[in-house]
Amino acid sequence: MILLNDFKAEPRELRDAQLQVVQRVLESGWYVLGPEVAAFEQSWALVCGVPHAVGVGNGMDAIEIGLRALGLGPGDEVIATSMTAFATVLAILRSGATPVLADIDPGTALLNIDSVQRCLTPRTKAVLLVHRHGQVGDMDRRQQWARAKGVHLLEDCAQAHLASWQNRVAGSFGAFGAYSFYPTKNLGAIGDAGTLVTSDVHLAERARRLRSYGQSTRYLHPEIGMNSRLDEIQAALLGVRLRWLDAFTSRRRAIAARYLESISNPQMRLLDAPGNPDNHVYHLFVVATDRRDSLLGHLAQRKIQPLIHYPVPVHMQSSCLDIKGDPRGLPATEHHAATCVSIPCHPQMADGDVDSVIDALNSYGR
Ligand SMILES: *Cc1c(COP(=O)(O)O)cnc(C)c1O
Repeated sequence: MILLNDFKAEPRELRDAQLQVVQRVLESGWYVLGPEVAAFEQSWALVCGVPHAVGVGNGMDAIEIGLRALGLGPGDEVIATSMTAFATVLAILRSGATPVLADIDPGTALLNIDSVQRCLTPRTKAVLLVHRHGQVGDMDRRQQWARAKGVHLLEDCAQAHLASWQNRVAGSFGAFGAYSFYPTKNLGAIGDAGTLVTSDVHLAERARRLRSYGQSTRYLHPEIGMNSRLDEIQAALLGVRLRWLDAFTSRRRAIAARYLESISNPQMRLLDAPGNPDNHVYHLFVVATDRRDSLLGHLAQRKIQPLIHYPVPVHMQSSCLDIKGDPRGLPATEHHAATCVSIPCHPQMADGDVDSVIDALNSYGR
């Protein structure tokens, strides 16, 4: 079986290094928000090229904490995409702000600026970009747009570890970047973890309070926070796994390059990846086809595990039917949700696995 992710196939050396740091933390006697978290925060801030990283419980909390630290809440509108992990929009709702959902570009499946423009109201305070599949779009254009409109640019970087635009890493463009280290992400923990990155020292300080009950100094609570602390074992494991991230990212790019040059079935549409190779870290490799059910059957026969990200966009979820969006609707989002398929593209795939996936896709329907 060629799996979408295959953690059990990770290198022995990585496993041994992880076991060592778990032991180190066990023996340290300090388990939550300690020196391992501080060390990882420093490393991750360095990777992102920003002065501050704040370790939190997961990626969704990183977004909520970021919004709250910016002072956004009830009455404020945040424009986002409906074609995302549910957590993106859930974080906006939990902050008390109002999500407004814009459509995507059919070519890249990233947020469409014209649609964002139609979602703009006097209450719009921010646009939350999702660097979906690991792709960072034209950030110059997006930053200029946000500046001209006087709204915050925010980044959901949960799929985009190390993706960059003109040598600046995802998360360094917006008022904050939110990272998830859920196990399936390009940099994943062995459980839940997340981080907010920012260049704004006040935002970072407020995020540190919010993640820990709104506490300023011990047992003093100037505001109502939450419990979203990062633990020492996850931080230590992330520190180890970070050392492999460059190599794993290169492998993802090499696999994607093979797919891009070799998938030639006219029934399969590949997404556009404009810009240069640095812009994309291929968290997911997505193909689109009008006859998805039969493709899924064909892949199952070939023992290849696909997945759909995401079959039901946020605005079509039964809990979200009243969320506002582009007045012209979200046709590109709905079409993408009905046709997209993620195929295996993970660093542990052998060359033979990549060939098998290409062969399965090219032989489909012939
Ligand atoms: C995974 C993911 C999240 C949520 O991260 P968690 O750590 O699971 O809370 C948010 N946004 C996107 C785009 C994601 O892929």
